[in-house]
Amino acid sequence: MKNIKDFSLEKLKEEMKNLQEKAFRAEQIFQWLYQEKVKSFDEMTNLSLDLREKLKQNYTICNYNIIKKQESKDGTKKYLFDTLDGNAIETVLMQYHHGFSICISSQIGCKMGCKFCASTGIDFVRNLTTGEILEQIIAVEQDEKIRISNVVFMGIGEPLDNYENVVKAIKLINHPKGLNIGARHISISTSGLVPKIYQLAEENIQCTLSISLHATNNGKRSNMMPVNNSYPIEELLKACKDYIAKTNRRISFEYALAKDNNDNLEDAKELVKLLKGMLCHVNLIPINKIENGKFTKSSNENIMRFRDYLNDHGIVSTIRRELGSDIDAACGQLRRKNINKNS
Ligand code: SAH
Repeated sequence: MKNIKDFSLEKLKEEMKNLQEKAFRAEQIFQWLYQEKVKSFDEMTNLSLDLREKLKQNYTICNYNIIKKQESKDGTKKYLFDTLDGNAIETVLMQYHHGFSICISSQIGCKMGCKFCASTGIDFVRNLTTGEILEQIIAVEQDEKIRISNVVFMGIGEPLDNYENVVKAIKLINHPKGLNIGARHISISTSGLVPKIYQLAEENIQCTLSISLHATNNGKRSNMMPVNNSYPIEELLKACKDYIAKTNRRISFEYALAKDNNDNLEDAKELVKLLKGMLCHVNLIPINKIENGKFTKSSNENIMRFRDYLNDHGIVSTIRRELGSDIDAACGQLRRKNINKNS
């Protein structure tokens, strides 16, 4: 059966026509799904019993079960959701002074193989559907009785490797009759799938693009991120420049600092050379240690020195707050879980 949250409003109108129903029923259903956030067709009380019955026969409403919810001492919450097929994904809720931010997953597992990231230590299983991506936001809003203001695609998976579903999900998150979250409050982070960056530039969505750069030369970057063998730094930056030219949006470069690897002043100098003149911002991430990972966190002193060097040389740079590391909810610590094996 089809998940009703996989449909855009236009597509759901077509579905209604196929069911011999009026198109405006789709708008009513949207209201129930995305404003009221109901969990069943029976709760859609302004629809006839007959229509509710038809909906039940043709569609499911994706409702995640919460398998586990953990709370960090900094208030960050990590959810383990049952994807209803024996797998589970993680979603993280963070509170900032400007509101709630959610970090969502786009795939079950990940193919990218970044050496410093826990999400990659297990096999790729499948893409999440549009509705499954959205459901993370809806389930957390319902559980916490809050309204989320920022969405980041920085959980498990490579969003641009699940391009179509992710773009559809962004449109629904942003749609006034969907979750109605401003496009500028939605960020996508990619390890650098160059052809997809060109494609995204054509979509005319005002979301923020973050690029996991992490190193300034191909030797070092390939050592951390195998994707660099397919799409080296020069090609990646060319795609970024095209993205900026087409969208006029500032790109955010993520740079995870690992001790004795990419955190000395020489690296900072190289980074300035690479990014000089681009409409961009650098987000420095103190690398989080993962099980069996060979990279360890830089000292605070090195991190601040790195940041100051960039800022002093015309590259705006900030250090990402470390949230939720005590519950393995920080960057790179999320993992796909198999419920049965409890791994
Ligand atoms: N696949 C996407 C999004 C997921 S990760 C991507 O690669 O961008 C979100 C960010 O956390 C990325 O910049 C990623 O490189 C970074 N990250 C992964 N593991 C990390 C770790 N152990 N410590 C700090 N940041 C990490």
